[in-house]
Amino acid sequence: MKPAPFEYHAPETLDEALRLKSELGPEASVLAGGQSLVPMLNMRLASPEALIDLRKLDELRYINVADDAVAVGAMTTHRALERSDAAYSACPLIREALGLVAHAVVRNRGTIGGSVAHADPAAELPSVLVALGGKVKVRSLRGEREIAAADLFTFHFTTSLEPDELLTEISFPALEQGAGSAFLEISRRHGDYALAGAACVVSNGNTRLAFTGVGPIPVFVEGDDPDAAAAATSPSDDIHATADYRRQLVRVLTSRAVGLARERAQVSG
Ligand SMILES: Cc1cc2nc3c(=O)[nH]c(=O)nc-3n(C[C@H](O)[C@H](O)[C@H](O)COP(=O)(O)OP(=O)(O)OC[C@H]3O[C@@H](n4cnc5c(N)ncnc54)[C@H](O)[C@@H]3O)c2cc1C
Repeated sequence: MKPAPFEYHAPETLDEALRLKSELGPEASVLAGGQSLVPMLNMRLASPEALIDLRKLDELRYINVADDAVAVGAMTTHRALERSDAAYSACPLIREALGLVAHAVVRNRGTIGGSVAHADPAAELPSVLVALGGKVKVRSLRGEREIAAADLFTFHFTTSLEPDELLTEISFPALEQGAGSAFLEISRRHGDYALAGAACVVSNGNTRLAFTGVGPIPVFVEGDDPDAAAAATSPSDDIHATADYRRQLVRVLTSRAVGLARERAQVSG
């Protein structure tokens, strides 16, 4: 299938992109790596009047690793971040989760900003961001603001970004000394969206978990009780698995991810 006709804009600068986003309004979609949006256009699940292609915005391609966080420009590809040894040292959870996002060809084009803005409840990165307690920066002509991960994902494929805002930076907190983390998921084949996934961070005796694929947004749970974790989720039945099966996966993933994160915390402590 082919997409419905649209106007095409490829701004050279972030300021120009923000001006277009403000002028064209909600009828314009932003194009990043196109790995989710282009299939949706082709299947006519989305028919925006205009596309604002961010591919020329090199200013949104960076990985800044500091003592307390890994700050990633929205147009950084999955693959670039996955390959960054500095990002891995500061926050190993990122590489562990990115290795499970689709296949390398998709990760070569897909962007960190696109993955987060798309807010697919089955995606890995939103859960990583929520488990770590990360945040994002968004910009519009009105200025810049930060949104905590806990306030960012509001429903299936929906975030708290305003229609004139662009996601510009994603910030993953660095793992503290003596802390441990793990990302585990269960999928039918490697590279498939997971039936369920768990991001886990164990730090100073606290356990933070965020689950993928078992609710409209990443499901955040504090503590290590598998039954409490399963009760917090709201999975659906679909052709891949029943809701009950997914809840059982959450119990299993909780035990495994917490165990692995604790083991790693002991090694690093
Ligand atoms: C075969 C296949 C398998 C996949 N498997 C997985 C998987 O297992 N796990 C997973 O997480 N993902 C998976 N994906 C999706 C992939 O990770 C996408 O790359 C990602 O979801 C979107 O990133 P993108 O840069 O391609 O964004 P695009 O497709 O270009 O955009 C996605 C959405 O985000 C919006 N957007 C993008 N950038 C911004 C921004 N800076 N500000 C505001 N809005 C923005 C767009 O307007 C659009 O609505 C898969 C994709 C394919 C094709």
